[in-house]
Amino acid sequence: MSIVRVALDVPLPTLFDYRATAAASEDIGRRVLVPFGKKIAVGVIIELASTTSLPMQRVRSVLSILRDVPPLPSDVLALLKFCSDYYYHPLGEVVLNALPTRLRRRQTLKPDTASRYRLTATGRAIDAASLLGRATVKLELLRLLRAAEDGIDEVSLRSIAPRAAAALKTMTEHGWIERVAVTRKAPQASTAVLRFVPGPALTNEQRAAVDSLRSVDAGFTPWLLLGVTGSGKTEVYLQWVADTLACGKQILLLVPEINLTPQLEALVRARFPETVLVSLHSGLNESERLHNWLAAQSGAAGIVLGTRLAVFTPLPRLGFIIVDEEQDSSFKQTDGLRYSARDLALWRAKQRAIPIVLGSATPALETFHKALNGNYRTLALTQRVNAMPPAIECVDTRREPLLDGMSQALLNALRETMKRGEQSLIFINRRGFAPVLMCPSCGWTSGCERCSAKLVLHLQDQRLRCHHCGHQERIPTACPQCGNQDLKPLGQGTQRIDSALARIFPGARILRIDRDSTRRKHAWHEMRRQIHAQEVDILIGTQILAKGHDFPQLNLVGVINADSSLYSTDFRGSERLFALLTQVAGRAGRGATRGQVLIQTEFPAHALYQALRRDDYPAFAKELLAERKQAGFPPFVYQAVLRAEALRRETAIEFLIHAARDGAKIEGAVTIYDPVPASMSRRAGIERAQLTVQSRSRPGLHAFLRAWRVRLDHAAGRKVRWALDVDPLEL
Ligand code: ADP
Ligand code: ZN
Ligand code: ZN
Repeated sequence: MSIVRVALDVPLPTLFDYRATAAASEDIGRRVLVPFGKKIAVGVIIELASTTSLPMQRVRSVLSILRDVPPLPSDVLALLKFCSDYYYHPLGEVVLNALPTRLRRRQTLKPDTASRYRLTATGRAIDAASLLGRATVKLELLRLLRAAEDGIDEVSLRSIAPRAAAALKTMTEHGWIERVAVTRKAPQASTAVLRFVPGPALTNEQRAAVDSLRSVDAGFTPWLLLGVTGSGKTEVYLQWVADTLACGKQILLLVPEINLTPQLEALVRARFPETVLVSLHSGLNESERLHNWLAAQSGAAGIVLGTRLAVFTPLPRLGFIIVDEEQDSSFKQTDGLRYSARDLALWRAKQRAIPIVLGSATPALETFHKALNGNYRTLALTQRVNAMPPAIECVDTRREPLLDGMSQALLNALRETMKRGEQSLIFINRRGFAPVLMCPSCGWTSGCERCSAKLVLHLQDQRLRCHHCGHQERIPTACPQCGNQDLKPLGQGTQRIDSALARIFPGARILRIDRDSTRRKHAWHEMRRQIHAQEVDILIGTQILAKGHDFPQLNLVGVINADSSLYSTDFRGSERLFALLTQVAGRAGRGATRGQVLIQTEFPAHALYQALRRDDYPAFAKELLAERKQAGFPPFVYQAVLRAEALRRETAIEFLIHAARDGAKIEGAVTIYDPVPASMSRRAGIERAQLTVQSRSRPGLHAFLRAWRVRLDHAAGRKVRWALDVDPLEL
């Protein structure tokens, strides 16, 4: 009797047994259709077996084994199993979650027809010189299509620029190009020698970093590339990518944000014109994602560039992993399967016995600690390539009166910068007009009725909005509590700074960049164009602007409201603030002149600001580590949080009290803390509470969690939703 054990997308920590007479060991990792309850479900075969613990008459048969795409390889299955065990998340959900959506559907995959474009005779005859100088996208399309006799697929062509889709349309209308439908073959692995277009000559530090990596034997080696902003980490990565490709291996390059992928993708494509590069992130449509995933799995793609979910991609020839901005919290998923893509990438590198590089100007303390201990090798880039480090100053807001949240010093600096024809950035990490509306006579504030959060005032569309649950309402004309008609916005958001600056500098060209203003598709791309074309004097932005963007004309950065995270209750507050401010400050002065950064603060003497001014993260990180050690916080202890959600707070807390009592019966060296309401104790009408457990030993923590999980499964009633969060980033 042949039995297959199948992973299904259900929240139960088990596999499901089915009969499958036709199953063979090469079917492990393949998708199957199975009856599940009254439905038909897609699952993945994890194991073959000859017996089952179920009574035979209850074991149903597999409906079909889907052999349309190759099975998940064993190393990916092992990674998924590890992920399920380590994060205490049902294997079925982990496995199915790792597949592109198309493969989670019941239909077998039809041969994918994709549109290709190719030049017509008219198109071939066009004299490129006759096109107007501004038709850069069309010129590029013509150039690409001239080089490709069979035409090029639509997805690739559209990816060269946001305007490419429109250009393709016009060119078709002109009869220059034609569209042909072709069956998409899975790309074949290429063994051709791949060209590497050299970049700028490396600096000595960059060269040294490249050489160090080359000097180490193959095998698992984790590296920390500790490079100040603008030190040219990307060029170092690219050299390693070239080396890896030359050995016929694949590269996995993980980045924190999709916003950052287009620029990097363009750069990498330009440098490796003959290598198949695919990206994997949530911004792709289903068929693009499937196509890219298959190209990675077949080995055809040399480079896979993606956000955290890309860590699960099958890569048969994987030779090297890069995690850029490794400290970024977006590598950790904060709901459902709460995994850290950085940590899984490390596990994967170890499993495949390959090198991995974690790059950052401000590595996570966990990473920095490992580097100090010698668990990771460190490569340092201490100097900016093209510019001097920015001059960072604090503006003491206890001494200076503020005008709409801005000091005279900042306003003067803005004026001077504009006079020189350079750009400025005001960084404020709050969107909307003001974080809260308040009644000065009775103290009422605009709270969300569904969350323990304030409603944010959005003046532009005359709304109060909750940034957590999406609730919105009209702005009240009078205080709901006392009837006072003179309600006041409290504090600053991007919109308020925007209108204040427009008033103070009437001629200035101001651009606000936050989640509200970039919501439209391609909005962000257009904004970047405006900035580069110098059509903007002052940028106002949230952390969207902080990361990785290179604006050559930007020379002044003003930071408003940084103090709010200085004394936050989260012990990671300072670490995060330092990283964020380093990134923001890194935007200043990438061009020829020295950048200036003004931080408005009530605590100019604070160690964090002092270290920031000296551009000395390592020293600051060592201080933080000493504090963490003394206080018994990670990375000196290992933590997990049990999160509970219920309609009533008491239900959640009671569940946690029981869980804590149950835990106390388990032997092991863990500390179980008291249940507390979550830092945001109510969201969208749901009460949230949590308790932390920690241990000085990681294996100790996991031994405890394994035993505890079984008890929790039994204890939880229907009224509570709970989840374990291992190595949590938010407490
Ligand atoms: P990081 O990621 O370390 O902040 P980047 O990799 O973005 O820095 O590099 C910063 C800038 O320096 C980029 O514009 C890049 O093109 C440029 N650059 C990097 N290396 C060199 C080099 N060796 N010579 C000249 N320019 C370089
Ligand atoms: Zn009132
Ligand atoms: Zn809300």
